[in-house]
Amino acid sequence: MKISELLKGNSLMLSFEVFPPKTETAFESVKNATEEIAKLRPSFMSVTYGAGGGTSKYTLDIAKNIKERYGVPSLAHLTCVSSTKETVREKITEIKAAGIRNIMALRGDIPAGLENADRSGWDYRHAIDLIRELKETDPDFCIGGACYPEIHPESKNQREDIFYLKEKVDAGCEFLTTQMFFDNNLLYNFLYKIREAGITVPIIPGIMPITNANQVDRAIKLSDSFMPQRFKSLVDKFGSDPDAMKQAGIAYATDQIIDLYANGITNVHVYSMNKPDVAMRIQSNLSDILGK
Ligand code: FAD
Repeated sequence: MKISELLKGNSLMLSFEVFPPKTETAFESVKNATEEIAKLRPSFMSVTYGAGGGTSKYTLDIAKNIKERYGVPSLAHLTCVSSTKETVREKITEIKAAGIRNIMALRGDIPAGLENADRSGWDYRHAIDLIRELKETDPDFCIGGACYPEIHPESKNQREDIFYLKEKVDAGCEFLTTQMFFDNNLLYNFLYKIREAGITVPIIPGIMPITNANQVDRAIKLSDSFMPQRFKSLVDKFGSDPDAMKQAGIAYATDQIIDLYANGITNVHVYSMNKPDVAMRIQSNLSDILGK
């Protein structure tokens, strides 16, 4: 099922994210974790592409397994910036052959050391290049893109970031998933600005449950996210007690989701990071609201 269709409902729906294993030996454990998450019957599951050192070749196997074995719609991520036209074409052919119709089209991070390189000869410079190619290959693909409530770290300012975001949507993005954020007001301000700029596609806020103190530094480094004092106090208080930190982090993420739903947002993406227990606990905290 196309994700653009799933996003039309009025009740709260959660989707979960998993990432591929780094090695062949880890494949089974990642597959098992994704299956446990799939059993929760989320609205869809997304499978990242090579993020965090994962191996991109497993993205499709995992996405296909989720869809075929559990009937849960899957969203396969695909990045382009460090790939050639030929590799991307091969990937698109494989995606079609696997029966996957939902693709999160991303640029990917610029490989280390090439940040200041001349990019004029690159096959792909921005996500929009991939979005256009996907739409030309098969207009029936349902394409999602990334967006950044706190602006993309490479953007000069939010106006410029939103200008290019609008171009991505005009090129064929049917929905956008946000980078993680820890203060919902940042999301509400962003929504106001993008709607004003004429971006009307559904926005799926991405919520990252922080379940251990080490994750805080990693999350900030990865996303440049602002950490509200309320969140910092929680890490100060519980950071040295793993169980308490996990409980507090899950409660914080749950609270964010409730506030989003109370403010009219019906689809929330949880960066569940191959942790079925975290996905389960969030879903169970929201059981009456979700009707599950
Ligand atoms: P783009 O949309 O190309 O934007 C990147 C920068 O270029 C922005 O500053 C933008 O304003 C600017 N820009 C865009 N278009 C133009 C243009 N035409 N001309 C000039 N400037 C332009 N990474 C992975 O490796 N694998 C994943 O699976 C993955 N999943 C992600 C999922 C989500 C929801 C998010 C938010 C990020 C994900 N990432 C993933 C990280 C992502 O690849 C990086 O954030 C990357 O740096 C930017 O990707 P993008 O698709 O947003 O790029």
